[in-house]
Amino acid sequence: MLDADFFRRWMTAAAVSVEHEAERLTALDSPIGDADHGSNLRRGFTAVVAALEKEAPDTPGAVLVLAGRQLISTVGGASGPLYGTLLRRTGKALGDAAEVSEAEFTAALRTGVDAVMTLGGAAPGDKTMIDALVPAVEALGESFEVARAAAEEGALATTPLQARKGRASYLGERSIGHQDPGATSAALLIAALAATADA
Ligand code: ADP
Ligand code: MG
Ligand code: MG
Repeated sequence: MLDADFFRRWMTAAAVSVEHEAERLTALDSPIGDADHGSNLRRGFTAVVAALEKEAPDTPGAVLVLAGRQLISTVGGASGPLYGTLLRRTGKALGDAAEVSEAEFTAALRTGVDAVMTLGGAAPGDKTMIDALVPAVEALGESFEVARAAAEEGALATTPLQARKGRASYLGERSIGHQDPGATSAALLIAALAATADA
């Protein structure tokens, strides 16, 4: 079973990873975006960790709802509302249980990913974070490690795609040949999840 502490540790691991990879995320956002993805997420996850320390939510759902709210309110870019919605809707789907099973979490995360697709209008293949999140949630029933590998593969597979959503889509065919920054950060979040489960 997964408790509030597990989800706090996931968010902390995600913040550490985003901090570590911020320059690379911003570099990926340079040719097909506005070179701010790393700094956007660094600001957001710094706020997430601070809020979790201050408010100490005591259920999995409350941890993720609070984290999502912080991302929505602190990240100016498109990724803030999208990741914020992912975490908030996943958290809401978990309700107020003190512990959730891996199967319950998988179902909740699917609800969260669906909410991101509804909000942003992106489908798999549009060269966005969805290209890492959908394979991850599909693989999560198997194991955290399989989900991590699926997200990583999904992020790498965005390189030959033409962007159909977000800022990169303004470039049309010139978006081809670059890995999507949001799919890359989504793979980092899933890797942080797998590392937390493995710890
Ligand atoms: P901005 O483009 O506003 O500067 P960021 O650079 O923080 O925001 O995030 C860009 C990432 O957000 C993209 O690489 C892409 O993965 C993701 N993204 C953008 N628009 C959408 C959308 N409509 N649906 C899903 N993901 C999106
Ligand atoms: Mg950007
Ligand atoms: Mg921006």
